[in-house]
Amino acid sequence: MAVPRHYGASVTTRLGPVGRLARMANGSGDPGTTTIAVTLEYVDVTLLGIDPDAGEFPPLLRDCVGVLAACGVVPDKTRLVITGDFVRSVQDRGEPDSVYHQNYDTRRNTGMVGGKTIPRPDSTVDVLLHAAMFVPADDDGAEVAIRTLVHEAQHVVIYQNGEAGDDFESAPWARRNFLTSADQVIEEYRAESVASRVAGPSGWNTDGLVALVRTWLKDLRRIAVKEYQFHLDAGKLAYDILQETHTVWKLLAYVVAEQVATDQTLPTSVVEDDLWALSVAPHWAEFTAMLKAVPGGDQRAPRTELDELASNLADVMQRWLLTLGFEFTDMPEGSAFFITDWSLLELELD
Ligand SMILES: [Zn+2]
Repeated sequence: MAVPRHYGASVTTRLGPVGRLARMANGSGDPGTTTIAVTLEYVDVTLLGIDPDAGEFPPLLRDCVGVLAACGVVPDKTRLVITGDFVRSVQDRGEPDSVYHQNYDTRRNTGMVGGKTIPRPDSTVDVLLHAAMFVPADDDGAEVAIRTLVHEAQHVVIYQNGEAGDDFESAPWARRNFLTSADQVIEEYRAESVASRVAGPSGWNTDGLVALVRTWLKDLRRIAVKEYQFHLDAGKLAYDILQETHTVWKLLAYVVAEQVATDQTLPTSVVEDDLWALSVAPHWAEFTAMLKAVPGGDQRAPRTELDELASNLADVMQRWLLTLGFEFTDMPEGSAFFITDWSLLELELD
């Protein structure tokens, strides 16, 4: 099992059940107006202030279509999906037997998934957002929806320009996992760097850094010290450790994007935190410098350049895992995953 890709590379699906399908314009219908399809799934549309018979859409939904258009997505190949059941809408678009899709949930370390971009087999792209963001009384919802959409639109544009990574199938197993993770972290950085610049930094990520690191280390301890000792499946150990760490790397990439957008450095409460010092600090400067060299999602970058960036970041990730106490490596007889150092895993965290 490789790290699940943000883009399901071989998604072969039936179409998801569609609650209502409407087409709407972000303008008055003048020639040249961009039209993007909007799908509402698993949601009572009247809760969103929509009168289906009148064909009128609330301003926020119109703004969202405008954001997608302004970010440069291909309008007739992009669909905005507002869903009341995010997990189900993701699973409707997944491979029927995929472990990733069967086990899909929206929890990520201390946070939640807010949006998701899913290319479809017919070369269109669905952008999923939580319906809760569109409930009229929720002022924060509007801000979150626009910000999330600027981020997701970058994934669409990256995909539609042929800049999304492949499966790195020719690489041996451990290397392939690091490359896949690195490539996704780079794409997340590209998306978030535009969101931070255009919609303003969210501040969520930096504020929660100490909690994030603590949650991460607890997850690693549970996986290595408790669960692995019971099932003794090194493949599962490798997958689980990498999965949680991959999430943290993505969140840290958002932090770098925020820092660049605001020209700020990390707060002292983070830098002076003991767990940060042990688990992140040794690789932070290198990680940050590499991401700063990555072009934003609104700049076009050839795959050759992105492959080289991913390769360099994959090297950092392999060394970072060693710092945490894990060696994931390819050997002539296959890949292997070892717990090499228990000191971080045995820290008192409660
Ligand atoms: Zn993203």
